[in-house]
Amino acid sequence: MKLTVLGCHGPYPPPGGACSGYLLREGECNLLIDCGNGVLSRLQEHMEYYKLDAVLLSHLHPDHISDIMIMRYALAMAENKGLRRGPLKLYAPLEPGEEFERLPYKNIYSVEPLAAEQPIKIGPFFIQTRATVHAVPGLAMSIQSSSGTLVYSGDTEFFEGLEKFVSGADLFLCEANFQEQDLLNNPANHLSASQAAMVAASAGAKRLLLTHHHPDRDRKVSITEAQKHYPAVEMAVEGETYIVGSSVE
Ligand SMILES: [Zn+2]
Repeated sequence: MKLTVLGCHGPYPPPGGACSGYLLREGECNLLIDCGNGVLSRLQEHMEYYKLDAVLLSHLHPDHISDIMIMRYALAMAENKGLRRGPLKLYAPLEPGEEFERLPYKNIYSVEPLAAEQPIKIGPFFIQTRATVHAVPGLAMSIQSSSGTLVYSGDTEFFEGLEKFVSGADLFLCEANFQEQDLLNNPANHLSASQAAMVAASAGAKRLLLTHHHPDRDRKVSITEAQKHYPAVEMAVEGETYIVGSSVE
């Protein structure tokens, strides 16, 4: 499977950047994971937006969902032009309820609640989820196909059982919004780069890609902190495509 990073910043993007959004492709299937601001624009650099098969939202914070509110207009126009038929499947946690209720728009999305530990199948992808520890209910995702396994942390602070969920990952896409300094002040809701690296190392993840970069924090510091625990760590780069496991076209 192929993972393209459309946006990797949070809670807001730097100039020219975008918030969380990842395109996962295998064969003819196009799955969008998270859809923060800037993602719809970036998506169109790689494919026609109306050819998406499904969208998975890890949680309902604006930096992960705001372009859902914009994509509906594009999809409505694509439907009018006959480019697309039927609603786009959109899987999202049910809470916070007021955010979930904002997702449906006419018949553009078919919104399905997605609970932790509720496996689903989308095209070639078998998806397992696990509740994270964050300010709102969130999901980590393990996405498996015949070519490999991607694990995405969603947004989370460290919790018991995270390593187990990550074990077997060909690629672990892990948020690292914090640095060691932040853990001294406000350790809630997010992981530091070093925590992400420790999880990847103890889970035996084959590759570690750090994401959810904070625009105010120096990436070199994050890399240095993570390398102590996982020397081959990489930082997600917007526009880059990563092969997960073996490449299957
Ligand atoms: Zn969040």
